Amino acid sequence: MIIGVPKEIKNNENRVALTPAGAKELVKRGHSVYVQHTAGEGSGFLDEMYVEAGATILPTIEATYEIAEMIMKVKEPIEAEYKLIKEDQLLFTYFHFASYEPLTKAMVASKSVCLAYETVEKPDRSLPLLVPMSEVAGRMAVQKGANYLEKPLGGRGILLGGVPGVLPAKVLILGGGIVGTQAAWMAAGLGADVTIMDLNLQRLRYLADVMPANVNTMMSNEFNIRKLIQNHDLIIGAVLIPGAKAPHLITRDMLKDMLPGTVLVDVAVDQGGCIETCKPTTHQDPTFVIDDVVHYCVANMPGAVPYTSTLALTNATLPYAMQLADKGWKKAAQDNPDLVPGLNIINGDIVYQAVAEAFDMDY
Ligand code: NAD
Repeated sequence: MIIGVPKEIKNNENRVALTPAGAKELVKRGHSVYVQHTAGEGSGFLDEMYVEAGATILPTIEATYEIAEMIMKVKEPIEAEYKLIKEDQLLFTYFHFASYEPLTKAMVASKSVCLAYETVEKPDRSLPLLVPMSEVAGRMAVQKGANYLEKPLGGRGILLGGVPGVLPAKVLILGGGIVGTQAAWMAAGLGADVTIMDLNLQRLRYLADVMPANVNTMMSNEFNIRKLIQNHDLIIGAVLIPGAKAPHLITRDMLKDMLPGTVLVDVAVDQGGCIETCKPTTHQDPTFVIDDVVHYCVANMPGAVPYTSTLALTNATLPYAMQLADKGWKKAAQDNPDLVPGLNIINGDIVYQAVAEAFDMDY
């Protein structure tokens, strides 16, 4: 198959959909890989590394879309790309269709085949192409939190791990899924006193089994949350109710009960946030302060570490990309049921119910 890897043109997106290592695997299997000039540069992968792996560099985005049977991307196509997409072309990327109608309409009109990373689903209902970004965001949440706890950045001026003779900081994590678990490992590793809350007792049992001694678990409910926020220094929001807006577990009135300089990192901000006062922020201007409480609510946290994020994402996408390239999307989806829910639009037809419902379109 002929595979094209365009450079991401969405603002501040430095990830790339294929690494030189991935290109080499595809070339080894007899496929032709075309990478747009400087597509990997933001993640530290130079054109010559792709050439060494057997790929061909193309000068423009137009040439890359023109030649490819399968386009591998990271972010959804933006308007400038709509006209480059061709009938029958397979697009393998994040789309998040339900949040943007013009994109959905443009992809229907293009008659391409849209396979969305975010809806590829394993039989246990896990989302293997979303997990790596949650892992990155969970780990980053603690790095960012530790940083903003420093006095000059508005925080309490407390060191996460303390020092001999001084107690460590207290970290509260709301939600013990992928983000929460990764955050807990990081905070615990730095020596903080960590509590994870979740509604799922099975999950809390598992976490209690695998976490080190400085991590405690607690049932998530308003009573417990109101109690713990009064003496915790860093609070990380990591809840998810699939397909729904995040519940507001921390409401505006609770801020006055927190210690001045408490830091809130609401990772769930991309689903509306689980802290009522959180509004999406950017890496350029990541925080704001309300009632002496620092809020960090960057909606695209993994974007700040493109090297790690690209490798983490492509570790998960490449096995699927190889199946798609080897067999074509029809046979690949027949053989691997994970790919079936990934199909959102096929040759002008919306085949994913939630996308059709979002815009009252035919399904
Ligand atoms: P996940 O499904 O693995 O975990 C969510 C957890 O929340 C589950 O264990 C669930 O039981 C728990 N939960 C649900 N309701 C709860 C409640 N009321 N109290 C406590 N726990 C509750 O999800 P995840 O992959 O960890 O993702 C968490 C959030 O982070 C999602 O909104 C995701 O979109 C977001 N995210 C954001 C970024 C970013 O850059 N900001 C990056 C990746 C993921």
